[in-house]
Amino acid sequence: MFRRILIANRGEIACRVMRTARRMGVRTVAVYSDADRDARHVRLADEARRIGPPPARESYLDIEAILAAARDTGAEAIHPGYGFLAENEDFARACAKAGLVFIGPAPEAIAAMGDKSAAKRLMERARVPLVPGYHGEQQDAAQLAKEAGRIGYPVLIKASAGGGGKGMRIVRAAPEFKAALEGAQREAQSAFGDARVLVEKYLERPRHIEVQVFGDTHGNLVYLFERDCSVQRRHQKVLEEAPAPGMSEKRRKEMGEAAVAAARAVGYTGAGTVEFIAEQDGRFYFMEMNTRLQVEHPVTEMITGLDLVEWQLRVAAGEKLPRAQEHLAIRGHAVEARLYAEDPAREFLPQTGRLAHLRFPEDAPDLRTDAGVDAGAAITPHYDPMIAKLIAWGADRRAALARLASALDEVEIAGLRTNVEFLARTLRCRDFAEGELDTGLIERNRAALLPARPPLSEEMLATAACAELFAEEDAARQRAAASGDPHSPWNRVDGWRLNQDSHHAFGFAEGEDRHPVTVHFGEAGWRMDVAGRNHALEAERLADGRLLVRLDGRAWKARAVRDGRDWHVFLGGAHRRLTLHDELEGLDIDAGGGSLAAPMPGKVIAVMVKRGDKVQKGAPLLILEAMKMEHTIFAPGDGEVKEIHYAAGEQVAEGAELLRLE
Ligand code: ADP
Repeated sequence: MFRRILIANRGEIACRVMRTARRMGVRTVAVYSDADRDARHVRLADEARRIGPPPARESYLDIEAILAAARDTGAEAIHPGYGFLAENEDFARACAKAGLVFIGPAPEAIAAMGDKSAAKRLMERARVPLVPGYHGEQQDAAQLAKEAGRIGYPVLIKASAGGGGKGMRIVRAAPEFKAALEGAQREAQSAFGDARVLVEKYLERPRHIEVQVFGDTHGNLVYLFERDCSVQRRHQKVLEEAPAPGMSEKRRKEMGEAAVAAARAVGYTGAGTVEFIAEQDGRFYFMEMNTRLQVEHPVTEMITGLDLVEWQLRVAAGEKLPRAQEHLAIRGHAVEARLYAEDPAREFLPQTGRLAHLRFPEDAPDLRTDAGVDAGAAITPHYDPMIAKLIAWGADRRAALARLASALDEVEIAGLRTNVEFLARTLRCRDFAEGELDTGLIERNRAALLPARPPLSEEMLATAACAELFAEEDAARQRAAASGDPHSPWNRVDGWRLNQDSHHAFGFAEGEDRHPVTVHFGEAGWRMDVAGRNHALEAERLADGRLLVRLDGRAWKARAVRDGRDWHVFLGGAHRRLTLHDELEGLDIDAGGGSLAAPMPGKVIAVMVKRGDKVQKGAPLLILEAMKMEHTIFAPGDGEVKEIHYAAGEQVAEGAELLRLE
């Protein structure tokens, strides 16, 4: 076994690899960009090396810098994690040349599977079933359009070098083909530096089922069963589970063997995943092979009781696979949710910002949180906006789902928008609960999964009010202690100055809604006026920092966290941000709505309008590229383009006004 390995990655996967390495007595070396100087993976590692400035191209993708860090620290092997250089054959080759073990398959296997089109041609020869499509070298627009017509609409355009759902476009009819092709090529070029695409039949209501495979250098290959990753948004997974609901033993064996055949065709070693797209009737087709550890590997670990990173290290060190096919079995059910900094209400737009507050439920044998960040860390536009993964196990699917849903209710994140409530709702929606899965599940249940914000409850408001009172009390106590006159009446917060009716009036704003609250301090305790009603109010602070609040005959536990003027209240899986304001002060509410400001820092890649153009509501105005995805800015209403502040190719800061519409 290796004595020291370098992990050429960041975030949760770097942390996860280190955990296993440490357990196996292997020392770990982290690498970091300037943006990650204080990141969790750096602090978890035995030692770390700086590899460059924040942009991935100049750090986590800089092969020379990473090899230098390995040389410098005496690492014997490099684990690439996923993303970045994990599927880069040049990197695998460079490792070998530098005398380092690349913890992954041979460069030839990466190359063979790295290109979706070439992989399909190879699988065709290995007789693995394929989706009807065109995966040839010809890239001429007219030719591709002709192929699309031959395949029959709807079709899907995919980047040959693709991954992460980038460079993918559904085309429903021939007239849309050209624009969709251009969009896909542009996104592919910017994300992968390779504009080539393939076209295939777009299946309606398919499932994404993938098979985990493992090979060693002694010619052994096994499959570790399947994962269902059908629940996706923007063609990217958000919920994954193992085993796949409704899978028969016969079909499982068939898919497992097809996956092993695919892996065998490229002499595969290490951990890999063969992705299939499956019809509702169970027929399945090869989509692609990922030649690395997947984000969702923990669900497989949970149902097999194995540590896949341990297997990776053993195989890379030349050992045989720890188990043969007949000694592998499924126990129970596992499900994973990916927590992203993103706004589900705005097309899942990635969010950036600081994690002012971050709290996960405690790990247990049936619950695991793989996080790559700590409270206070920032989600930057440089890297993937995933915050953490939560994985739950249950004796059956129902139990696993319930466990994960309640764990999600316990997650507390403040500082930026996340999909946590969206995930919990998805887990509980009927289609998912019943195992009626397909890749359109989220779209189909959109209304239920993305409900309008419900009215603010009295419980939420009372929690925020109590938290504010406690905070003022603490501040007063500190002032008193510092003033040298701890008993000075000036340091009291109970409104004594008004004597007769000692009270404290404040208010909370949520968007444009205002919620005035008055708390009266009397002999018999607090009373709260809210929305024309008067309640008895009582609160105590619990050992875990939460509040136990009583309002008349109701009692509940909740947490309130302060971030500047905002109180974040976490109560029963719901999270609300309430901005404190003095009742006498004017409110400073963001106008929002019709703003044509950049939603995030990025680069303008196309401007579709000219000055003086008359546009209708919903017309595309400009395309911004951020976090390697394209975001189209649409006209918020009918109007005339008065000014355009940026041209294609220019960088914009978050909040910058892109154009002016009148
Ligand atoms: P990427 O490598 O970018 O993740 P994949 O080829 O793995 O792209 O596909 C991602 C997702 O897109 C799949 O899981 C599936 O939901 C959807 N998809 C891919 N191919 C098809 C298809 N032919 N028909 C319908 N949906 C598809």
